[in-house]
Amino acid sequence: MENLDYTILLYYCYAEISDPEAYRQEHHLFCIENNIRGRVIVSDEGLNGTVSGLREDCIRYMDYVKSDPRFAKTDFKINDYHQHAFSKINVRYKEEIVHSSLRHINPNIKTGKHLEPAAFKKMKDGDDVVLLDVRSNYEHELGKFKNAVTLDIENFRDFPEKLQELEHLKNKKVITYCTGGIKCEKASAYLLEQGFQDVYQLHGGIIRYGIEEDGEDFEGKCYVFDNRIAIDVNKVNPTIVSTCHICGNKSDRMVNCANPTCNLHVPICEKCGWEMEGACSDACKTHPEKRPYNGTGYYQKNTNGYNPYKGFYGRLDKDKLKSMLNR
Ligand SMILES: [Zn+2]
Ligand SMILES: [Zn+2]
Repeated sequence: MENLDYTILLYYCYAEISDPEAYRQEHHLFCIENNIRGRVIVSDEGLNGTVSGLREDCIRYMDYVKSDPRFAKTDFKINDYHQHAFSKINVRYKEEIVHSSLRHINPNIKTGKHLEPAAFKKMKDGDDVVLLDVRSNYEHELGKFKNAVTLDIENFRDFPEKLQELEHLKNKKVITYCTGGIKCEKASAYLLEQGFQDVYQLHGGIIRYGIEEDGEDFEGKCYVFDNRIAIDVNKVNPTIVSTCHICGNKSDRMVNCANPTCNLHVPICEKCGWEMEGACSDACKTHPEKRPYNGTGYYQKNTNGYNPYKGFYGRLDKDKLKSMLNR
């Protein structure tokens, strides 16, 4: 039995942050001092993060986030793991917590009705119900809910312009879903804004549905934004929907292209993996920097000598930040 001493947290919170840069620095320092790694985005409109750490450090981290009244309602998706899922910590300021081209929307004012995983499971097969996957091509090609409507988009930014295709669904019950729920906050609000009548969203996304309801009827794997690349969510009736990037046979074996300058994550079957030496194309196979293939398609990032303070370029001095953390 593997030791699962680590935890991976996925979360977001839409809340006004009037001092994003000061908060970013304070948050960054907390992560450094508690050995939390991952990616956190701080914006005027809220917080979005995927982080990993030892279980007790992650508990401390969740307490830290929620102890701030602005983020008290943050919904954490919690997965156990055997190691860090990131090689370093990044805490960045961005204009939006998810790049969306829907900056005018504030989900705290208007958004689709939240469905908890159990309610979603009961409702999703109804006659007048449409499941709408708001994620990008590379995500729904690897896995999606049975009978879900998908959109041909490379990036969530392109979601609004695909809405004409959905005109005929305006009078149905539409349930949007995404990985952890964050995109749905704005996507479902945008549907309402465009005249859709009855709009819901899967609260906590595919990840929480997998944790709480065993992922029934989710076909394939769920793409995630950490070192795991893709995870199983369905413990009830799992299937494979993706195909090998090389031969086209069914495969959900995710490989990180052996050419580090390409680094594409694609499904490649066992046989093609060996034939291509872990590369996604002939050009990558012959690339001078190609890494040796060991049959997994996974390359451990070298974190020896990792210094988390290296990325910390705060302008406030450290003592001041410490006193902020202790307030
Ligand atoms: Zn193949
Ligand atoms: Zn490649």
